[in-house]
Amino acid sequence: MPLWAQIVIGLILGIVAGWVLRFDALAGVRPPIIEFFDAGATIFLRLLKMLVVPLVVSSLFMGITNISSMQGLGRLGTKTGIYYICSSLFAIAVGMTFVNIIKPGVGASLSLGEFNVNKFMKASTDPVDLITRIVPTNPLESMAASPPDMLGLIFFTLMFAVFALQVDKKHLKTISGFMEAVFEVMVKIVDFVIRLAPVAVLFLMGKLVAESDPKIFGDLLWYLATVTGALLFHFFVVLPLAYFIFTKKNPYVFLGHMSSAILTAFSSASSAATLPLTMECIEYNAKIPNKVASMVLPLGATVNMDGTALYEGVAVIFIAQVLGVDLSFFQQLTIFGTALMVSIGAAGIPHAGLVMMVIILEAVNLPSEAIGIIFAVDRVVDMTRTAVNVWSDSIGAAIVAEGES
Ligand code: ASP
Repeated sequence: MPLWAQIVIGLILGIVAGWVLRFDALAGVRPPIIEFFDAGATIFLRLLKMLVVPLVVSSLFMGITNISSMQGLGRLGTKTGIYYICSSLFAIAVGMTFVNIIKPGVGASLSLGEFNVNKFMKASTDPVDLITRIVPTNPLESMAASPPDMLGLIFFTLMFAVFALQVDKKHLKTISGFMEAVFEVMVKIVDFVIRLAPVAVLFLMGKLVAESDPKIFGDLLWYLATVTGALLFHFFVVLPLAYFIFTKKNPYVFLGHMSSAILTAFSSASSAATLPLTMECIEYNAKIPNKVASMVLPLGATVNMDGTALYEGVAVIFIAQVLGVDLSFFQQLTIFGTALMVSIGAAGIPHAGLVMMVIILEAVNLPSEAIGIIFAVDRVVDMTRTAVNVWSDSIGAAIVAEGES
């Protein structure tokens, strides 16, 4: 049985198990079986996270040193950047169209809830800080941070690889040999970990469903339908169309190749943790060359988040609708621009997009505590938007790879 089918079975069994094991999460006591599920799921995610730094460094180093010229690198970088920006802007446009037509928040009576922004706000929201932090002061610190500082790490590895090409060939050979060996070993470990995915997904879903309270979905049903509808439209229509236009190949065959990674992204709500699987699927199932995948995917997992960008636009306009605030055209434009910025700045971890929304709310003078309105259902939305994020990175790698041999 193919791995993706095993993961789907794990997912369904997880939902059923979670439903059977439902308990009142607010009461505070978790049944032992849920503790077991939690431990199993956490070990799987920790295994994946453990692989991210060595895999990204070795793979990116090899990718860059295999690109024959600096022009080649520049062309690849430019294509990647253009794809990231265009696909995210399309995603925001899709989301804003859906929410402005459906208007899920108009007339809804929802309370702000008790959301303490400061408690969650760990990431910096200062644009200058977001840009300057790309240059790390200490690459080892970038690797050791939790989650790792991916932009800093990518920046350092990129410089290291580019300048490794300028030193004596014998040194380059030594470093390349070492990096290649690390990469080969990492791939073997990913091969092993990926086989645990079906069980891990069962644990993840089981715990999630058992803890959730179906009542919270009632009030937010229209919001959920709008954001999920827009995400699915982007997933199944916009991105496949872009893939088809640029590669002339069947996007759904490609989706089959990437399905294990996308299902894991959906269950874990973390594109950073899924990265080793995404890289494995793209290189070994979809046969996209390492020199493209090693650059487009790690960078994409950090800065290219179509799902997050789309969700930001929908959620902020929904909040304005609930609060009865009529947004001007200029305010909608501000949301359009800041949603892109926020999706670039958000980390690939669960709920990152939710907390970063403060930047947009403040930009259009809405109260940041209003996040409390949508907080309760964020995990469900997060799962779908993370799947979209990983799918968009994969499509980006395939499009950028076209014409590169
Ligand atoms: N969970 C998302 C991801 O990992 C980020 C977000 O919260 O939107 O890609």
